[in-house]
Amino acid sequence: MYSYETSKALFERAQHSIPGGVNSPVRAFKSVGGTPLFIKKAKGAYLYDEDGNQYIDYIASWGPLILGHAYEPVVKAIQEQATYSTSYGAPTELEIKMAELIKSLVPNVDLIRMVSSGTEACMSALRVARGYTGRNKFIKFEGCYHGHADSFLVKAGSGVATFNIQTVPGVTAAIANDTLTCAYNDLEAVKRLVAEHPNEIAAIIVEPVAGNMGCILPQPGFLEGLRQICDEEKIVLIFDEVMTGFRLALGGAQERLGINADLVTYGKVIGAGMPVGAFGGKREIMEVVAPLGNVYQAGTLSGNPIAMIAGYTLLSELKNHPSLLQELDTKTKYLKDGLDKVLSEWGHPYTINHFGSMISVHFSNKPVTDFASAAACDIELFKKFFHAMLQRGVYLPPSAFESWFLNNALSYEDLDKTIEAVRESLKTIS
Ligand code: PMP
Repeated sequence: MYSYETSKALFERAQHSIPGGVNSPVRAFKSVGGTPLFIKKAKGAYLYDEDGNQYIDYIASWGPLILGHAYEPVVKAIQEQATYSTSYGAPTELEIKMAELIKSLVPNVDLIRMVSSGTEACMSALRVARGYTGRNKFIKFEGCYHGHADSFLVKAGSGVATFNIQTVPGVTAAIANDTLTCAYNDLEAVKRLVAEHPNEIAAIIVEPVAGNMGCILPQPGFLEGLRQICDEEKIVLIFDEVMTGFRLALGGAQERLGINADLVTYGKVIGAGMPVGAFGGKREIMEVVAPLGNVYQAGTLSGNPIAMIAGYTLLSELKNHPSLLQELDTKTKYLKDGLDKVLSEWGHPYTINHFGSMISVHFSNKPVTDFASAAACDIELFKKFFHAMLQRGVYLPPSAFESWFLNNALSYEDLDKTIEAVRESLKTIS
């Protein structure tokens, strides 16, 4: 049995000075119960908590650490850069190199602006789309998460779904009224909304492969249909690639699925675990951004040199060794096949959604294609499953509404151990 005594004591102490004891809600284990693990260190595919327990990590900081924790070239680059100061508030060549590298990987990005989080990236992209079109409303999809900016906290996924928050106090009705929502994969609903609001919709923002209600795949024709609607109605199509960017392919979901958005947002992998996001896209649209245009957007720490060198080093590794992402996909498929085997032997309903290195297990016998079908899964069973896995040294996202994130430091032995842990866990939960 794993013991969490130190984590328990730290969690108790944390509640006195930090809201709910955590700096981001899903970390609190509130929806799965129990004590959140306080982490001391991590290396490769493993996390070590303050009680000295070791876990195989399927969160990887919620996606950024695609090649594993404390990846040697990234650590070295950060150490060296730190000796030259942590921030200047003035431009650096490193920022140009970063922008050029991203442009070389994503051909339809003409201009890109660095920010400090995925939230900032999405919030800024939306402002740009509004400034460019002169329209106010936008469409997002139920269960998709685009960060915690006011406009996006309407029928949002991730922690908002995990905690079943229907309306977020503090988001005014005036703001929420400009956020129109549809079910993911429901192209007809999008067409209806667009018809009901002629010349009013600035943008459609979508996770091209959704990861914030578990992993949910776009059905054939869905993204193509969005592209067509946006072309016809002069709406800006924003792909939120915070999760999928530099993970599903070097060119992200755009490359993998062969569909170009007008604007793209990034986060997670682009910063290698440092606080980084970015938004970019077509020159004509991005030219509205200050100081070229009047759509104001800024950041004291935007393009921070430590963050830039970390992201630049990780993206360069991925670019110079394209086999890394392929290996990761192959490992994920291996895990998927192993899970399928043990889950089918178990004899209860389940669905595995899987795309590239994103995967999630839903306890449901129906296809999980949107938020309603994700929410209809057996969440109680997931909670038990989560804790049974934790007790066997496997750290899964503590929510049924999150994709698992694989990282390439995972060995086949780790994957076999995980599959075995699932087999053992399932025996204890049904
Ligand atoms: N968009 C997507 C698709 C995300 O998954 C997330 C974070 N999970 C965000 C935006 C927000 O990013 P951040 O937490 O860095 O603000």
